[in-house]
Amino acid sequence: MPTDPVLVVHGGAWAMPDDMVEAHIRGVQNAMAAGWRVLDRGGSALDAVEEAVVIMEDDETFDAGRGSFLNRDGKVQLDALIMDGATLRAGGVGCVEHLRNPVRAARKILSESPHVYFVGEGAERFAAEHGISLCQNEDLIIPREIERLRQYQAPQHGDDLFAPTISHDTVGAVALDRDGNIAAATSTGGTLNKAPGRLGDSSLIGCGCYANNESAAVSTTGWGEPIMKLVLAKWTADRIAAGNLPEWSAQEAMNYLKQRVNGHGGIIVLDPSGHIGIAHNTPRMAWAYKTVQKEEAGIERKD
Ligand code: ASP
Repeated sequence: MPTDPVLVVHGGAWAMPDDMVEAHIRGVQNAMAAGWRVLDRGGSALDAVEEAVVIMEDDETFDAGRGSFLNRDGKVQLDALIMDGATLRAGGVGCVEHLRNPVRAARKILSESPHVYFVGEGAERFAAEHGISLCQNEDLIIPREIERLRQYQAPQHGDDLFAPTISHDTVGAVALDRDGNIAAATSTGGTLNKAPGRLGDSSLIGCGCYANNESAAVSTTGWGEPIMKLVLAKWTADRIAAGNLPEWSAQEAMNYLKQRVNGHGGIIVLDPSGHIGIAHNTPRMAWAYKTVQKEEAGIERKD
C-alpha cells in the first residue's frame, strides 16, 4: 500500500523584516512546488529534497548558492548535505567556492562515492569529474552582499554577529515518498563575515541535517556553532525514535538549543508516518509544507 507523500521546506529563521517576507514566502513555495512535482509522480524523497533545495540555492533571497553571505575575505564558501533515510547514505560538501548548486555535488557523492564528505578543492574536483560544471566565485556574489559585508566590516559597526536579528537564510527540505522513505537536505553560505575555512552545522551529519527511516528526517537553520555542539538534528530524531511526535520534538529541540547553549534557529522535522514539526526560537522562520490534503506556507509560528 503506497504512502501519501509529504514535503516540508524552510528558508531560514531570523527576524526577517516585513519587506523581505514576500520574497521568503514565494521562495519556499517555489521550492515546495519543485519538490512536490517529484513526489507526485512517484519519485523518491531523495530526489524531491534535492530539487526543492536547488530552487532555493538559485533564489538570491536565501543564503545558499548565488547570493550567499560573503566570508571575511569577500568570497562565497558553501556547505551542503543530503541524506537518504532508507539506506543512511549521505553526501556532504564543505567550503566549496565554485559550485552554483552544492546540493547537486552532495547528491553525486551520496550516489557515486564510497565516501560521505568532501571539502574545498577536492569536493570541486569530485563534482567536475562527475559532470557538474564549475563556476567562478564572482558568479555567486551579488551587490547586496558586497554592501552587507562592507557595512559589517565598517569600523563603527557594533552588531553582534550572532544576534537573532542577523539573518540566517540557510535552506532545507525533508520529504516522505510513496514508498515510505524519508530524506533530508540542507544548503548554506554559512554566517556573514565567517573566517575562511569555517564550516557550519548545515553540512554535518546529525547537526544541520539528518535522515533515518527508523526515526525522522530533519533540517535545521540558525547559528551553527551551538547547533553542532548539540548534534541537534540527531538529538531531535532520537526523540522521535523514543516515541515522541515531530511537533513536540521540534519545539523541544528549540528549547534545548536556547537553554543549553543559548543558541537560536529553526528546525523542520518529518517522521515516516507523515507527521511534521516546524519550530523556531527566532522571531520568524520561512516554512512551507504540503500533503495530499493540505498546503501551507508562513513566516510566523506554525500552530
Ligand atoms: N546554520 C548556518 C551556519 O551556521 C547558518 C544559517 O542557518 O543561516 O552555517
